[in-house]
Amino acid sequence: MNETPLKILFLASEVVPFAKTGGLADVAGALPKALKEMGHDIRVAMPGYGFINREKFGIRDFLAELTVPMNGRTETASILETNIGTVPVYMVNSAKYYDREGIYMYHDDADRFVFFCRAMMEMVKKIDWAPDILHCNDWHTAIIPNWLNTIYKDDPFYKQTASVYSIHNLAYQGVFGQRVLEIAGIDKYQFMVPPGVSPDNHINMMGRGIFFADLVNTVSETYAEEILTPEYGQGFDWLLRERRDRLYGILNGIDYEIQNPATDPHIDHHYDLHNLEAKAENKTALQREAGLGLEKHTPLIGMISRLSDQKGFDLIGQVIEGMMENLDFQFILLGTGEEYYHNLFSSIKTRFPDRSAVYLTFNAPLAQKIYAGTDMFLMPSRFEPCGLGQLIAMRYGSVPIVRETGGLKDTVCNYNPVTDNGNGFTFKKYDAMAMYTAIVRAIETYHYQDRWRTLVHRGMAGDFSWHNSAQKYVGLYRRALNVRAYHPIPNEYMNVPS
Ligand code: ADP
Repeated sequence: MNETPLKILFLASEVVPFAKTGGLADVAGALPKALKEMGHDIRVAMPGYGFINREKFGIRDFLAELTVPMNGRTETASILETNIGTVPVYMVNSAKYYDREGIYMYHDDADRFVFFCRAMMEMVKKIDWAPDILHCNDWHTAIIPNWLNTIYKDDPFYKQTASVYSIHNLAYQGVFGQRVLEIAGIDKYQFMVPPGVSPDNHINMMGRGIFFADLVNTVSETYAEEILTPEYGQGFDWLLRERRDRLYGILNGIDYEIQNPATDPHIDHHYDLHNLEAKAENKTALQREAGLGLEKHTPLIGMISRLSDQKGFDLIGQVIEGMMENLDFQFILLGTGEEYYHNLFSSIKTRFPDRSAVYLTFNAPLAQKIYAGTDMFLMPSRFEPCGLGQLIAMRYGSVPIVRETGGLKDTVCNYNPVTDNGNGFTFKKYDAMAMYTAIVRAIETYHYQDRWRTLVHRGMAGDFSWHNSAQKYVGLYRRALNVRAYHPIPNEYMNVPS
């Protein structure tokens, strides 16, 4: 590395391997490792949820007592420390806020995540480690760019610190009442923010992140374009268009150490590009475990997903019965989410017991077995900021069938039987018949085994590691420092009204 290493604090509400509900955790567990390997001083911060096993992860005490300003008073936290590889991880410990069974959906989520952010802002001061970059992710940490332009604006400690705000999913915005500004200690500043970002009666954390961050990015180039339109902008397309010169798209990678069929401890038979027979053995093992017919030559289609409309389940709902009746394939689903879909897939399982398997739970080891044991991976999302499922599937030789949107469009290229190009099957329109047609094409192609093997190979040989994207993040961080120094957010939005 010929430029000076950066000091980066990466803040996220969920981080693999400690706590995960979706792709954000995968990113938070992998991107910092890649940046560390490049020589940067990157540290990760997250809440110390009570369910995290301290012994298993070698979690140690780091700071016994930290004073955290909250709601016009002060509270205390302690800080714990562990590592992901050689990356230090700080966990904000507070029984009051984090000793719960889950990560989200509590009545005091605003307090919980503001407290986490404030504790970290104060902790780095206490240990005298001034980050060049505060890398904030999704609404949970969106208050930080706002603080850098208000309460910490004149703090010499943060004089050289810039913020980068990453949008992993624009649909979850963190909308609260005015009280959140009091908790965060910035109620005096509320009138300085444009109305769309904070309408009179509610505060939108995501909007504040986008508005105040020195640079904003999202997790694929296509999604970064799509969110400028009303169809994908979730009410913020106007603000993102206004911030267009500060908005970037950087594709997520996956952790090639963890997501590796040659070493994955959760799968029965290890394999790589040159040993695909073992993939077939994983298929048989999965069929056995899931109670499916042990049919070698019937394509097995998998899905691993949150069960929500975003992921295209309304399309599946429209045609799944017809598909099961008319097409020769097996289907396995792992997911949790909306009750409607729990009922739908339970009834599919009842009707087609040896051709479908349905697991309505979150189960990381089973997910790996499904990536390894399936022939195809279905992801017909309505919108998809990046999508990791299709990347993991390709790494494990499961051919993706996806809708051309967001990161799915940037990573999966439609198979063309004439030119023999492509690494999966895609469709454009958000429409059940368009999806059905893509599935039929995949099933037909599967029976031409030579061609299918080429497709499997192509997916497995693709490079979706963090290597390239981590370099792009470094470029983004350096640009953010430049923006902070020369093009700060205009003063009129930051001064305290007299
Ligand atoms: P999102 O973050 O929108 O949920 P992504 O495709 O970016 O979607 O990431 C989803 C991640 O969560 C993948 O690593 C996927 O394997 C995992 N995952 C989703 N649902 C489950 C589940 N029920 N059990 C285990 N892993 C799951």
